[in-house]
Amino acid sequence: MRREVRWERMFADELDAAFQECPVVYLPYGLCEPHGPQNALGMDGLRAHAYACRAAREHGGIVAPPFFWNVHELGIYAAWAHPLIGEATPWLTAVPPWLFFHEICYHVRSMDALGFKAILLFSGHDGPHGRDLKRLENLLQPHFAARLCFLTDASALRLEGFHHGGKIETPLLWAAEPDCVDTSRFPAPDDPGPHFAMGPDAREADRRLGEELIARFVSALAAKAKELLEAYDRLRPQRRPLTFEETERIWQEEIRPRMGEMASMCDTRPGQAPPPPESRWHHNWKVPKLD
Ligand SMILES: [Zn+2]
Repeated sequence: MRREVRWERMFADELDAAFQECPVVYLPYGLCEPHGPQNALGMDGLRAHAYACRAAREHGGIVAPPFFWNVHELGIYAAWAHPLIGEATPWLTAVPPWLFFHEICYHVRSMDALGFKAILLFSGHDGPHGRDLKRLENLLQPHFAARLCFLTDASALRLEGFHHGGKIETPLLWAAEPDCVDTSRFPAPDDPGPHFAMGPDAREADRRLGEELIARFVSALAAKAKELLEAYDRLRPQRRPLTFEETERIWQEEIRPRMGEMASMCDTRPGQAPPPPESRWHHNWKVPKLD
């Protein structure tokens, strides 16, 4: 019998037993975002959830419900989207960085208050916010007993030649969720595009590569979870669950004032053109200054 590890599908006695056996929680993040017409929109969250479920099934732990809202649509992200997605309806589930990071503070609080010793956040959606997540991890850690680790694709594994929606990412979804990749949807070779942010090498996708790489992701996540548990047992941190009010204070006093320094809060990266005024991506491109 396959062991259920998906929190939302478990009964309380199953959660109690899984927690007793291994007090690790995986928090999978993604969003709905164009990755080429051959990939279902939920690519990043579906992958993150699949890797976390496999890590928990094979090595212990519980997988929290996946969170399909993530950073996009402004600054660097909009400048990237203009040439690659163009005017097609993007079907994005985007939130700004300040809302995403604020939300994470409460997700971590809730997991820590439940008594987990290790909280492993994994976002299948990568980008400048990946660097910010590491910063957020460092800012939050001193406030919680649970040991924290926030990862994205790039920080979990170095994948040479990785292109968004290309020959590496497509097989990752294909192997994880076979119904969510349909290669009959590749655009005609002479279609000038843009192709819904498909990677230039997507047609070389090989599902077996996805299986190999997923095994590596699962080992990397499980090894990190083990490291966090060992750190917890070594440090024996004092546990005092934070209130909502205390969590809000951490956000307001320690994290929000640093949002202006975050990599995801830049208008463009060097050499990147802003989306022109007629682009749908211009509308929300300019990153506001938080005061
Ligand atoms: Zn992706």
